[in-house]
Amino acid sequence: MRTFVGSGLGRIVVINLQRGEKVLESVRTQLQELGIKNAVILSAIGSLQKAVFHRVTGMDVSPVDEFVTLEQPMELASIQGVVVDGEPHFHMVVSDLEKTYTGHLEEGTTVVYLCEISLAEITDFDVTRVKDQNNIAVLQKI
Ligand SMILES: [Zn+2]
Repeated sequence: MRTFVGSGLGRIVVINLQRGEKVLESVRTQLQELGIKNAVILSAIGSLQKAVFHRVTGMDVSPVDEFVTLEQPMELASIQGVVVDGEPHFHMVVSDLEKTYTGHLEEGTTVVYLCEISLAEITDFDVTRVKDQNNIAVLQKI
C-alpha cells in the first residue's frame, strides 16, 4: 500500500458542458488553462449521447482491457477519480433505459444535453503516475 498526502484543497472548479462537448477532453483543457496538476472529483452528473470506456476482462497479472463504445441516450450517474500530475484517471457509471455500465473514461465520451463536473484542487501534492512491470500505472512520489 502507498499513501500520498497533500497539504489541502485549493480552487474548486465547476465545469458546465453542453450538447456535443467531449467530457475527458474538456476536463483536460480546463485543467491546462487553469494550471491545475492535481485534483479530486467531487461530483459529475449529466447525460450522454456517446460513452467510450474500457473495462477489465480477467484477473491475469497484466490486465487485458476491453474497449466499449455506446451510442444512445444515457444518464451519466457519476464520475469518480483523481487528477495526478495533470492526467485525469476517471471511472464513470452510465445507464441507458435497461442497463448500467461502468468503466475507465476514454476520449470521445460526448454530452447530449448537459454535464456538470466539480473538481477540488489538491495543493502541495508531488506525485506522478508510472507504469510498473505489469503495465499497471501506479502512483509514485516525485
Ligand atoms: Zn482506470
